[in-house]
Amino acid sequence: MDAVIPIARLLADTGLVTPEAQAQARTLLEQHGLTSPRKQQIAMVKVDRARALLTEHLRITCDNAECMTLAADTWPGKAPLIGAPAHCAICGGSSQRRAARFLAVALGRVGISRVLLLGGTPPQHATLRELFAADPIALRTVDGSTRGHSAAEAAPHVAWAQLLVIWASTPLHHKVSVAYTSQAPATLSVITVTRRGVESLCRGIIAEVERPRSR
Ligand SMILES: [Zn+2]
Repeated sequence: MDAVIPIARLLADTGLVTPEAQAQARTLLEQHGLTSPRKQQIAMVKVDRARALLTEHLRITCDNAECMTLAADTWPGKAPLIGAPAHCAICGGSSQRRAARFLAVALGRVGISRVLLLGGTPPQHATLRELFAADPIALRTVDGSTRGHSAAEAAPHVAWAQLLVIWASTPLHHKVSVAYTSQAPATLSVITVTRRGVESLCRGIIAEVERPRSR
């Protein structure tokens, strides 16, 4: 006899845990001939196809309104389903990740992909890199707690960046930041964020990027 697993477990592994979500997903599997209404189990050989089908047709998010909205904008052709937060296609259960997703969209909307960040700690920089690993956003970071930077060191980074973010609430020596800000060309967007923490940084950049400004 072929190896099988319970359909309920297959769905739960995808984050679909409520009876409503499981019923909707089951209907999808039935429509594509991967199971029938009376079956409780599914053959292992069909599991990969079933998972691919669910991914292709459903947008699974947590019940956060922002996640649902962003998922609808990102995958308009997929059916919305509420799943376990850890399986949310937007946040994966992390408000920090949710903020990062919104920031990536906000930057994409204004055509910014090269960001130079002054301030923040190396662990925070590592977190940011991980959050934007799949995005077309290149991030250069400057640890503001170390020695002063020369204008010559700062120049190529300033020339490269489309957006200069001064993270003012973090350890950031004036002698470090001034090497960058003093030679920022008029065409470079420079914004200051005074909030602490990676999530607040993302939210602060979004607020500035989306703020209507007179030119
Ligand atoms: Zn979410």
